[in-house]
Amino acid sequence: RIVYVNGDYLPEADAKISVFDRGFLFADAVYEVTSVLDGRLVDFPGHLARLHRSLGALELTTPLDDAGLEEMHRELLKRNRLTEGAVYMQVTRGAADRDFAYPASSEPGLVAFTQAKALIESPTAAKGIRVISVQDIRWARRDIKTTQLLGPSMCKMIAKKAGADDAWFVEEGFVTEGTSNNAWIITADGAIVTRNLSAAILHGITRAAVMTYAEAAGMRVEERPFTIAEAQGAAEAFITSASAFVTPVVEIDGVPLGDGAPGPVTKRLRELYIAESRARAS
Ligand code: PMP
Repeated sequence: RIVYVNGDYLPEADAKISVFDRGFLFADAVYEVTSVLDGRLVDFPGHLARLHRSLGALELTTPLDDAGLEEMHRELLKRNRLTEGAVYMQVTRGAADRDFAYPASSEPGLVAFTQAKALIESPTAAKGIRVISVQDIRWARRDIKTTQLLGPSMCKMIAKKAGADDAWFVEEGFVTEGTSNNAWIITADGAIVTRNLSAAILHGITRAAVMTYAEAAGMRVEERPFTIAEAQGAAEAFITSASAFVTPVVEIDGVPLGDGAPGPVTKRLRELYIAESRARAS
């Protein structure tokens, strides 16, 4: 793979980062993952907007402006001949002698790479996933997309060891989100429910797009918290993220949803999301 590191496009073995990079020492870094369909970027403006929100919260700056970031993404797609998958980009505060206070001045760092992945013909999406609930052990600013991901990583492993595919976080009795995705249910009367935006969850770009497309298709969307018990009794459930798109959830804490197979509304939403994203990708 050819990766981007601070202005250079290099074979991945030649890409180097300082031991003193605060992204490495403090997870003092934010990131975005943009999916790629037909060699084009899905909702890149949405990802840029959220990147700026994350950067602003941490008083971070990026070495490239928006046009530069877009050009860099396109260059990576070209150099890696990527047609389907994702581009990961990370902005770090850069290298400074280790100290909890942000350095008065440091050169922000920017790295990016591509990942090839079959997003549309996904075996996981065809089968659906099984989730278990876990206590939300993450920090309280989940709306900032930092690289501090050990909590979600640990909980994903707990889910895998329990024979499930992923975990849904629960805080004060309500589901916040999945380890790397937003959580949704569809009620018996057809309402599509996902938790309202706050610092408790990441403001998913896919979440926003699915809401828009579902409402435009005449479906009712409710933004509110829900419990695991409500989700277990729901008609359907699913997750959204840039890499999972819309992926059905077929079991929660060992309880199958409906007949235990991906539901029709979820399938329709996935098709709708893919069609709209393809049409708008640039
Ligand atoms: N929540 C969390 C905790 C995530 O890590 C992600 C994916 N990075 C999402 C939600 C989904 O966000 P998006 O749709 O922008 O990929």
